[in-house]
Amino acid sequence: MAILVAGGAGYIGSHMVDRLIEKGQDVVVVDNLSTGHRAAVHEKARFYQGDTRDKAFLTTVFKQEKIDGVIHMDAFSLVGESMTDPLKYFDNNIYGMIVLLEVMKEQGVKYMVFSSTAATYGEPENELITETDRQEPINPYGESKLAMERMIRWADEAYGIKFVALRYFNAAGAKADGSIGEDHHPETHLIPIILQVAAGQRAELQIFGDDYKTPDGTNVRDYVHVLDLADAHMLALEYLQAGNPSQAFNLGSSTGFSNKQMLEAARKVTGKAIPAKIAPRRGGDPDSLVADSQKARKVLGWQPQYDDVEDIIRTAWAWKQSHPQGYGDK
Ligand code: NAD
Repeated sequence: MAILVAGGAGYIGSHMVDRLIEKGQDVVVVDNLSTGHRAAVHEKARFYQGDTRDKAFLTTVFKQEKIDGVIHMDAFSLVGESMTDPLKYFDNNIYGMIVLLEVMKEQGVKYMVFSSTAATYGEPENELITETDRQEPINPYGESKLAMERMIRWADEAYGIKFVALRYFNAAGAKADGSIGEDHHPETHLIPIILQVAAGQRAELQIFGDDYKTPDGTNVRDYVHVLDLADAHMLALEYLQAGNPSQAFNLGSSTGFSNKQMLEAARKVTGKAIPAKIAPRRGGDPDSLVADSQKARKVLGWQPQYDDVEDIIRTAWAWKQSHPQGYGDK
């Protein structure tokens, strides 16, 4: 039986596929390469280029392969873009999920691990966000992911498709050997942007605001290494295959890092000056966003290997140095 990674050519998806293959799993990838990279997909995975909204295409893949479970990582995920083009997000993310669930139902596939997002919570109610906190997204991206979570819950009720939704903030880092890594266009994530400055591809880092209610005044965010995320998805699938009930889990470091701390850590790891300046607040940035992941640690037995942010940055730097232009295909 194979595991289908939808979005397996993307940043997190490619690490997911790599990890599954390392563990001896049979892996099928579906990806339309809209933001992903063919070169990121492990050569041992069977790759099908196509769109999850294309039911005929997806049905062919499911008929050709014996799929036991689906790991869903194919969504658009740029918050800013979702604000200016919300329908693009609802079409790709929500409609894509409808078609995928339909095909799973028709082909009798019972397990889905869904890469959701902590953006489904919106403005945090508490310092550490727990799974039972209010979910009130403040952008269309988070809204689309919340709708997808709810859709799977009803698909479970009606068709018995068991799911785990994993809610996390910032995926970070890369495989330690630098062979795969993060290559987004445009790049909106902090670590790759800092490393672009370190590599001389960007003049300086802009830190948006230093008067937030945090110890050094800059925003505090949660970073999880991409391979720790992959492990959590694997554990979640095993949890479902063992007959456990559907539910959502947060994935996080449980200790956030401020933008200034990230900058200092990157300066240390790279040995570069990394010029930075404080710019005005962007608006819409909560002081601090950190997820409590005790439940995932307890119930799934998840134990992140990368708990030091310098180690995370070191892996991202290894990728940056070996692939200064990313995969070079966009
Ligand atoms: P990514 O853009 O690198 O990967 C998404 C992949 O899905 C790409 O390869 C893209 O080509 C593919 N894809 C998109 N729509 C598709 C469609 N309709 N049909 C087929 N393929 C399609 O993004 P990422 O950073 O790897 O994120 C992966 C998932 O994790 C997303 O669902 C995202 O919402 C979620 N997530 C990411 C982060 C993060 O920090 N990167 C945080 C929380 C959640």
